[in-house]
Amino acid sequence: MKLSHSFIKTLRDAPKDESARSAQFLIRAGYVHKELAGVYDYLPLGLRTLNNIENIIREELNKIGCEEVRMSALQNPALWEKTGRWSDQEVDIWFKTELSAGGELGLAPTHEEPMTDMLKTYIKSYKDLPLYVYQFQTKFRNELRAKSGIMRTREFLMKDLYSFSADEESHNEFYHKVEDAYKRIYERVGLGDCTYQTFASGGIFSKFSHEFQTVIPVGEDTIYYNKDKSVVLNEEVKLPEVMEELGVKEGDLESARAAEVGNIFTLKYKYSDPLDLKFNDKEGKEQTVFMGCYGIGVSRVMGVIAEKYADDKGLVWPVEVAPYYMYVVPIGEEGTKVATELESKFPESILLDDRDARPGEKFGDAELMGIPFRVVISDKTLAEGKVEQLDRQTGEQKLLTLDDLTAILSGYEKDR
Ligand code: ATP
Ligand code: MG
Repeated sequence: MKLSHSFIKTLRDAPKDESARSAQFLIRAGYVHKELAGVYDYLPLGLRTLNNIENIIREELNKIGCEEVRMSALQNPALWEKTGRWSDQEVDIWFKTELSAGGELGLAPTHEEPMTDMLKTYIKSYKDLPLYVYQFQTKFRNELRAKSGIMRTREFLMKDLYSFSADEESHNEFYHKVEDAYKRIYERVGLGDCTYQTFASGGIFSKFSHEFQTVIPVGEDTIYYNKDKSVVLNEEVKLPEVMEELGVKEGDLESARAAEVGNIFTLKYKYSDPLDLKFNDKEGKEQTVFMGCYGIGVSRVMGVIAEKYADDKGLVWPVEVAPYYMYVVPIGEEGTKVATELESKFPESILLDDRDARPGEKFGDAELMGIPFRVVISDKTLAEGKVEQLDRQTGEQKLLTLDDLTAILSGYEKDR
């Protein structure tokens, strides 16, 4: 990608009302554009980053047998009335709107109801189970307060997965698979060492649900953990009887601020019962489908990664989520020729700064954008057959041959 062809420009200033460092950098570096409080557009660099996160999640879910769909955002009130969730007293974040022909519609804040109802058409017998269906979809929530840039917004990208099983045993088997898949996902996006599976309140039927919480100072939640972090719990379940059950004592627990990046729930019959999702078992007897749901806030994850890795100069992306692998700055005539050829060979990996600007300005933008490696291809080092590489995260500098560089880029593209 050639920067001279892009409409992206880095900005000197961030909006005054953005307090999170990640939000300021994401806006200044041209990843997102703020429409209004809690509403953001994803620009080319931001969309590539979001897509990379989405693809990691997709790969890991497909590995455990999940099927992807995309459901509508517009919601039929009749369905939500069956579960009592159309009511603004019950769900206080609805965006509701009106049909010009008369009648109301909702903008989906989540999809349990339509997903359960849709599967009624396809689930008839025990032979149809289990099923694991997920989507990446825009959710709308009328949050009282938008916060921390893309971390709490009124329109956001969620991955929501729903499982449909014949009984609790087969449900539990899949639930553990999702736990493992989530661990791999957070590992791959660069949050593995600071994301914990926590005990959270489980709603009506099951005692606990689980959340995945990333320790980060701007997090809205507080989590508690024991010394070796083998038991981590949310504030709402930090009760004497729960602590006793989990074998931890008040005095042994430490606390940290954290952001919820995902959660997994055993729903049991919470939605299949009121929405009448049934199947015939081996004996021909009618049974209710046993359900689970599993969310990840994809755009929030992007904000959390940005927040965790940023330094005082700008963003720093882990390689797997970075929009490009290398930021190339050409200097001189031969440098420009070599850099341009390299970019045409690896357009998906290289962001070529071919703008008419001083190298110092380009170096500053490379830092702000947080591309993992900056490579300067100049006449001076080319004379010795070398180019200069700088690692954005470690600051490590290296001289590489052009062959090294080509091999690195080929390896990177092969891994994707
Ligand atoms: P929270 O407790 O943060 O309000 P939630 O418990 O309502 O979230 P879910 O309804 O289970 O969350 O949504 C699944 C995931 O979507 C959450 O784990 C979180 O990562 C993300 N998410 C929820 N609300 C928002 C929001 N307003 N903006 C961005 N991401 C969100
Ligand atoms: Mg929550």
